[in-house]
Amino acid sequence: MGKCVWSYHDARYTRLGLMICASCGNAIDSGMYRSRDAGDRYVNHHKACSLSDKKWTEIDAANKNRIAYLRERLSASVAFRTKWKMCDLDDEINSMTTEIAEADRLLEGGV
Ligand SMILES: [Zn+2]
Repeated sequence: MGKCVWSYHDARYTRLGLMICASCGNAIDSGMYRSRDAGDRYVNHHKACSLSDKKWTEIDAANKNRIAYLRERLSASVAFRTKWKMCDLDDEINSMTTEIAEADRLLEGGV
């Protein structure tokens, strides 16, 4: 038997196959899920339905690190903008805020 090779996706951006969870039978509408190509179809699982997969721990840790980094950078950018009354950082501040919200959503929900 070959080893299953899973890939990990955000349902909001990447949709593979029928997007039905092979574990619980429900639709995968949002959050993270894993997928493997079974040749004629994709086998997908909600994150919540495949938590025994150690890869989720890695993905969560990477997201937490990224959020921590972004939060620090965001607060430094906001302080800089306030002090120097510059609007140059507006776009970056907005995109960091969005990215933090996105990462938070994936960590919490996952379903
Ligand atoms: Zn499921």
